[in-house]
Amino acid sequence: MSWDPIAKIANDVQASTIKAIDLVEQSLAAIEKHKEYQAIITVMAEQARSRAKVIDEKVANGVKVGRLAGVPFIAKDNILVRETEATASSNMLKGFVPPYQSTIVERLEAEGAICVAKANQDAFGHGASTENSDFFVTKNPHDKTRVPGGSSGGPAAAVVLEMAPFAIGTDTGGSIRQPASYVGCVGLRPTYGLTSRSGVVAMASSTDTIGPLTMSVEDAAYVLDVYAGKDELDGTTIDRDPQGYVLPPITRHLPTTKVGIIKEWMGEGLDDDVRKSIEKAAADLRAAGASVEEVSLPSLPLALAVYYILIPAEVSSNLARHDGQRYQFSAESGKNLTESYTHSRAKGFGREAKRRIMIGTYVLSSGYYDAYYKKAQTVRTKLINEFNAVFEKYDFLIGPVAPNAAFKIGENADDPLKMYLVDMMTVAPALVGVPAISIPVQPSGTTGMPIGLQIIAAQRQDRELLAFAAAAEEAIHE
Ligand code: GLN
Repeated sequence: MSWDPIAKIANDVQASTIKAIDLVEQSLAAIEKHKEYQAIITVMAEQARSRAKVIDEKVANGVKVGRLAGVPFIAKDNILVRETEATASSNMLKGFVPPYQSTIVERLEAEGAICVAKANQDAFGHGASTENSDFFVTKNPHDKTRVPGGSSGGPAAAVVLEMAPFAIGTDTGGSIRQPASYVGCVGLRPTYGLTSRSGVVAMASSTDTIGPLTMSVEDAAYVLDVYAGKDELDGTTIDRDPQGYVLPPITRHLPTTKVGIIKEWMGEGLDDDVRKSIEKAAADLRAAGASVEEVSLPSLPLALAVYYILIPAEVSSNLARHDGQRYQFSAESGKNLTESYTHSRAKGFGREAKRRIMIGTYVLSSGYYDAYYKKAQTVRTKLINEFNAVFEKYDFLIGPVAPNAAFKIGENADDPLKMYLVDMMTVAPALVGVPAISIPVQPSGTTGMPIGLQIIAAQRQDRELLAFAAAAEEAIHE
């Protein structure tokens, strides 16, 4: 059974026409039914049921619960939920039960939302397929032999499998948009700083964002509206848009909209079926009255190299805290503290985390810092300037989310470089800090797998981005 729009579910709970407990049971039943897809790490059945009972009692007593009254949701495993295991899909954190929770979950719960499960991901967010999870690989809901994308592959698959009306993921370099594209749902990466990182396992602090995965743009906007904005626990957070993010009343008139389609992403390396779907989406937008013309950002081809220098540098710093003393996993074997660090990190981290720690440490080390880290930061600034210049002329940019539709499980697993290439189109908006969204367009003509259109807006234009994405969702036909 599919879910109603989130605003309607919450209204119905508040009006007592449906009960929160029934919604939770519906979620739990879907989770059980689709177990074979391995989207979920922890099911929170008892906590969810008892929260639902409290909410139903409040409603019965005439108390106003909130804008997400009784709405079930699923959190990626790197997002802390109080007293629930949070592993980020890494053996390093297996068994770690946080005594506090993320600001995002705090804000969702304050409006009556109910977390029903924690979902699988690439360990610590490193990957594009969930194959880097230390536990198991999530399967694509449209084809069990294919990946759901990553790193938020579990949350994305869960939403498409109707385990909950929405999930919350993280996007450091594409981890919400790319899985959304691979499984056929909506995935929003908000402006950097709009979503608090407090209580989220850090990957790369200068690009980590938290965003919704939903089946419609309207739902994504509704959820973002609940948790966006300043948080005293995260000094990089910014003020929310005073007009909020809820759709409607926000709408976008396509005939006055100037859209740039990114030239550098439509050339070499793009699969034919993706190209066709994106060109068709552009044609549909034109037919609805928008102006769509090719635009060039000459430094874009450098973004992937920049990302894979800067992000490992931040990863190596952020993962330093996992030393076997402070968090969960600790190797028993060390004779002294230094040995304990070494043994714990050697056993606890998976291959991809180690690879990124080594690359990151290398590019930050004296003698190499200028050649790699500093140079990459210079190109990052160049990218920021190019995006700023383009947004002087265009309201939005569009292009593919990834060069391909979902690939087969195992296809890229032994070739890290091939896996990194999948991030070609998602990393630049992350480095620049601008908001971007993936919405489903015409599926692949050859495999029938979903394909996403990426829409990008200038910094802090999240409201405008959502309004345009909702208009595009209507204008673009399969
Ligand atoms: N696939 C990208 C990476 O491996 C994106 C990760 C992310 O956004 N968490 O770095």
